[in-house]
Amino acid sequence: MTTIQAYAARRAGGPFEPFEYEAGPLGADDLEIAVESCGICHSDLSMWDNDWKLTEYPFVGGHEVVGRVSAIGDHAQGHQVGDRVGLGWTCRSCMHCDHCLAGDHNLCLSAQGTITHQHGGFADKVRCHWGWATKLPDGIEVASAGPLFCGGLTVFNPLVQFDVAPTARVGVVGIGGLGHLALMFLKAWGCEVTAISRTRAKESEARELGAHHFVATSESDALAKQAAKFDFILNTTDAELPWDAYLAALAPRGTLHTVGAAPKIEATVFPMLAAQKSFSASPTGSIVTTHKMLEFAARHQIAPMTETFPMSQINDAFEKLRNGSPRYRLVLTR
Ligand SMILES: [Zn+2]
Ligand SMILES: [Zn+2]
Repeated sequence: MTTIQAYAARRAGGPFEPFEYEAGPLGADDLEIAVESCGICHSDLSMWDNDWKLTEYPFVGGHEVVGRVSAIGDHAQGHQVGDRVGLGWTCRSCMHCDHCLAGDHNLCLSAQGTITHQHGGFADKVRCHWGWATKLPDGIEVASAGPLFCGGLTVFNPLVQFDVAPTARVGVVGIGGLGHLALMFLKAWGCEVTAISRTRAKESEARELGAHHFVATSESDALAKQAAKFDFILNTTDAELPWDAYLAALAPRGTLHTVGAAPKIEATVFPMLAAQKSFSASPTGSIVTTHKMLEFAARHQIAPMTETFPMSQINDAFEKLRNGSPRYRLVLTR
């Protein structure tokens, strides 16, 4: 039995308040992680507000955890007490279905979420299956590593899933928590990178992060001038976009991929069909992709740009996420 000290909201959008709960006996395949820091992801905001009708209250968010393994279940593998690990959106999967056995653990039909099936990482401790805790490799900056486990994985995963070539021309739509990470990964991946934003407000930052080009869609004909240019467009926003205009910006065989949960997509089929273009979407990523992403980030010194708040100021941090413009990810520290 462990008593866990967390911060919970008791209703949609309500304040986070100290909340204590009994976690029960540690599962045989589980680890307990003593949380050192936890990023705040846009999904925490959506869950807090119950946008997806999934949230149970009291709600403890937090799925960009970095901490030390503090307890190990009897059958858990590959970890020692004291190891520094990270944990993201998924905390458990069955490990024996075809999807898990194929390495697509994040697509397991019985996968459980760190904040959807249990209380999350805005706490002193959090639990997960041993497979979903990933040891931080040497060379990863610990203080800013949390956001790699959801935000970083989410934008890195499509590069692996779609075999994006280093010679590809790639557009990144939205320069925020996800987009700024995508620019860094794609630059290191070797691609020709174009940052696409509504205005030029973030142009110099985007170029510093790795963008070779910048497109401001509020300028007249901005997208039309990119016609047939991109092999891959990664949309990181949840906005309603002019989908046909983005599809027109794809080169033949190009893919428009979204990791942002836009409410609806409407597109005209014929131009897609004529140039063999695709539309696709993906959630975070698998265990093995997490390992690859961390090694890649360590090798290329990719670290999220973060603003840090003490966990006791969780409400100030959420206010900043909702109404401010964080540059670019927020992290709570204990
Ligand atoms: Zn997330
Ligand atoms: Zn499974």
